[in-house]
Amino acid sequence: MIKRFVKDIEIRLAETAGFCMGVRRAVDMVLELAQHKGDRKIYTYGPLIHNPQTVELLKKRGIIPVQDLEGIEEGTTVIIRAHGISPQERESLKEKGVMIIDATCPKVGRVQSVIKKHAAQGYRIVIVGDAEHPEVNGLLGYAAGRGIVVSNLEGAGRLPAMEKVCVVAQTTQSLDEYKAIVETIRARVPETVVFDTICDSTEKRQAEIKELACAMDAVFIVGGRNSANTRRLAQISEAMGTPTFHVETADEIQGIALGRYNRIGISAGASTPNWIIERAVDTIQNKRLGSGARGWFFTLWLGSVRTDIYSALGAACLALAAQYLQGVSFSILQLLMASFYVFSVHTLNRFVDREVSGLRGTFREEAYAKHARVYVVAALLCMLLSLGLAYMIGFVPWLMLACVSVVGALYNLRVFPKGWRFRRLRDLPGTKNLFMAAAWALVIAVIPYVAWPLDISADMIVAALFIFSIVFVRSSLSDLIEIQSDRMLGRETIPVVIGENRTRKLLDAISLFLALLLVLSYPLKWTTSLSFTLFPCVYYMWICFELCDRRTALSAAVINGLLETNYVLAGLCTVGWLVALRLLA
Ligand code: SF4
Repeated sequence: MIKRFVKDIEIRLAETAGFCMGVRRAVDMVLELAQHKGDRKIYTYGPLIHNPQTVELLKKRGIIPVQDLEGIEEGTTVIIRAHGISPQERESLKEKGVMIIDATCPKVGRVQSVIKKHAAQGYRIVIVGDAEHPEVNGLLGYAAGRGIVVSNLEGAGRLPAMEKVCVVAQTTQSLDEYKAIVETIRARVPETVVFDTICDSTEKRQAEIKELACAMDAVFIVGGRNSANTRRLAQISEAMGTPTFHVETADEIQGIALGRYNRIGISAGASTPNWIIERAVDTIQNKRLGSGARGWFFTLWLGSVRTDIYSALGAACLALAAQYLQGVSFSILQLLMASFYVFSVHTLNRFVDREVSGLRGTFREEAYAKHARVYVVAALLCMLLSLGLAYMIGFVPWLMLACVSVVGALYNLRVFPKGWRFRRLRDLPGTKNLFMAAAWALVIAVIPYVAWPLDISADMIVAALFIFSIVFVRSSLSDLIEIQSDRMLGRETIPVVIGENRTRKLLDAISLFLALLLVLSYPLKWTTSLSFTLFPCVYYMWICFELCDRRTALSAAVINGLLETNYVLAGLCTVGWLVALRLLA
């Protein structure tokens, strides 16, 4: 669980940080709705989650939070968030004639049922929780006038005399406080039935924060200040005597002096999106590295990963390896063509997909949202440059690159007729990883070397398979991380179609195939001796399999950067091979 980032710094990210099941389910339902909503107005009854950044993103997509029923118009759609609502509010919504999408967390639904049943049996209902919290308001409605809210021990001591009570807790209550309050009630009421309705996700989160607070010099809690469960995590950590910082965004970390803390723990509330947690992790790592060369290099490297410049550099490195695998002499044209093409296609695809990825919260989203126009202009310019360079190489390469670019542009667009099951190429299951790897292999290892009549040589096939394998593994691993980070991915990704375990087995098989290909292709005279020198890329792949463990305290941006470093490694191996040949000559 512990990842040492550099020798003297230890940063630990809580395993429980990020969306809980109920919040994730609600967000997924809204994302699904957002994609097909058309002009229909969609309201969430209260903010969907206690996170201002996500609520803002939803507003941009026309999903508006309303605080009371008055603000809701007839004929619209209303989403009930994970906290649930009272039966009376539900009735009012029905009377308004709106379409109701119920995202009430099933665990909250269970508490509602317990209350309803026991209220009907004549029990008074004691709800231990925050009187102002929407979940508690909804629960009170199920008590049909027999409910009392108790928020602390003093409140329990002031309860009126009662015959029989049913005690439940708000799902995000502190377990220790709940136990103490229950004991007080038991001592005062002859017949007390108690239900442990604290959600296990909350219990695990609270247990882990105690562990973190004990082991670390300081603890950061990331999440909305209006989120009860996030505030409670900060309270628990503070109560353990550990310096605790509750921050909503990574920007707030900038003003905090971290020099005194070598061991830093990070946790987050149940409604904190992973991209916000990851930015906090990056900021803490960056700050601890300081403003010297290490910090400067880290910022620069991470910036290049976020903007796809690192991918473009990787494409140039792979193009260099492809040239020498095919035994052709060095040409800068092919490297630049690959580099411009990769930057252009990646940027344009992110632009087309920007609204959905903005809601899901990818690590690139922030940079794209800020400078969308600059990115689009740069991407179009790079596409023109790439086509121009292809034309300089030859007419057939230009024609093939134009065809691949058209297919790439059509990938996200609805090209199939209405009524078809699949309307876009990306709707075809598993296509994203396959198309991406195939496009890289074609553009880097095939297109620059083809002429008419077509002549497909063994070394071209080896180079194409090398590029395809290395890109496919990187792209699938990246999607695996996204799944582990609770992000909703579409069926265009291999891990969603075949599942995590099968994906891992598939990637193992591909890495073994690549290892065999690199070892055998030179003795079989299919390619140059560079194939041996590229073996570290396979070894690095195996290291990456270990990296893709959600428990490492590395953000998705850092992990993606490390995955893409395999491309750079291929370039470095090629340079090393060239130097060795020269020395031996
Ligand atoms: Fe559901 Fe638990 Fe999340 Fe509350 S904290 S929404 S009960 S999973």
